[in-house]
Amino acid sequence: MSALNKNSKAATALDIAIIGGGSAGISLATGLANLRAAVVEPKIPEERDCSWALWADQDQLQKLAGSIKGSWKQWRLVDHNQEIIHCSEDYQYASLSSAAYITACEQNLAKGVELIRAAAEDIVAIGNGGCFSAAGKHYRATQLYDSRPPALTENSLRQHFVGWDIRTKTSIANPDTVTLMDFRVDQSRGLHFIYALPFSDRRLLIESTMISTKLEDRDWYRQAIKHWLHQNNIEIDQTLGEEAGVIPMQSLPPLNNDIATIGTASGAVRLSSGYAFSTIQQQTSLLAERIRAGQYEVPSPMSKQLMRMDKLFNRVLVAEPQLGVAMMMGTAKALSANGFARFMLGSANLSDWARVIMAMPKIPFLKQLFTS
Ligand SMILES: Cc1cc2nc3c(=O)[nH]c(=O)nc-3n(C[C@H](O)[C@H](O)[C@H](O)COP(=O)(O)OP(=O)(O)OC[C@H]3O[C@@H](n4cnc5c(N)ncnc54)[C@H](O)[C@@H]3O)c2cc1C
Repeated sequence: MSALNKNSKAATALDIAIIGGGSAGISLATGLANLRAAVVEPKIPEERDCSWALWADQDQLQKLAGSIKGSWKQWRLVDHNQEIIHCSEDYQYASLSSAAYITACEQNLAKGVELIRAAAEDIVAIGNGGCFSAAGKHYRATQLYDSRPPALTENSLRQHFVGWDIRTKTSIANPDTVTLMDFRVDQSRGLHFIYALPFSDRRLLIESTMISTKLEDRDWYRQAIKHWLHQNNIEIDQTLGEEAGVIPMQSLPPLNNDIATIGTASGAVRLSSGYAFSTIQQQTSLLAERIRAGQYEVPSPMSKQLMRMDKLFNRVLVAEPQLGVAMMMGTAKALSANGFARFMLGSANLSDWARVIMAMPKIPFLKQLFTS
């Protein structure tokens, strides 16, 4: 029997089904009401807990307050030559617990929106909708959205990291400042930096992050973390956890071309930075608004121009990785704190863009612009 026939038989009818209840799926589900809907997610939030960071304005800080682990008005980027410190009153750099965020969303689903704690299987597209099975039951939805992330390919540009959540023996210097990028680490294998979030004067999330096409052994990132801690005279009292991740930095095809995609699967990750939380929030709240108005088309997560600029930035990075540090530092130096936050959020204005373009090395960008 084909999957289509099997699933169509005695299937529960839904108006909307969302495959995957991660950042995009569960955010969209919370915006739905007055219809029969389901979000299908096999993992409990704690199983996949990690830190999601964003530049948040006052409204977002308030809205996300229950999931925020830490927020800072000040952030810095450092290399061997300079330290750039940004301080903003309008945006704070906030770090969320993904588990707390997803749990809060799951608890806030409207009546009629069901959470199915299982993997969706035998997914078949039928027009804009489709059918699937989950937890031994069959479902048929008029409208189907797929948030399963695309498969990562070997040798593609990726942001990859290992991070430690630590308690320190003594107080950390400047716990009110986030280290977004400290480039004073081994640059021999690609663009490499340390990212450090001081959740208090004794608690630190520290990550060794690479932007390159090749993943390293876990111990390589761990050594970089140890080295940085030693250089900064920080001694570990207790390691509370380890987190690792790989984020695609180039467009990847979705798992099923016939189903509408949301989140990472729809290209919501900023290809030049790996940030996606804010674009996913914008995309899913606009889509929920559309659905409430009887329209079902997924909004593009960001403008085509922004995507083109990010791709160009990455092409330069792949062709001339030795320019990476100067490009990142140049971007931060050219912008004010608010301009930098806007740039990272994908909402840079013309003046922000002009400043960034002027700060970039012209010949490598022109070379990549004219080679497709
Ligand atoms: C470790 C890590 C840290 C990150 N940190 C940041 C950050 O600080 N800031 C930021 O902006 N971005 C960050 N990102 C990037 C991005 O925001 C996240 O990857 C985010 O989770 C993307 O949301 P999503 O909904 O597209 O995918 P996901 O959140 O991965 O959701 C997809 C869901 O689909 C489910 N699924 C898979 N197969 C099936 C199936 N067959 N049936 C049902 N469900 C299925 C999965 O269990 C998963 O929960 C990070 C990414 C990673 C990996």
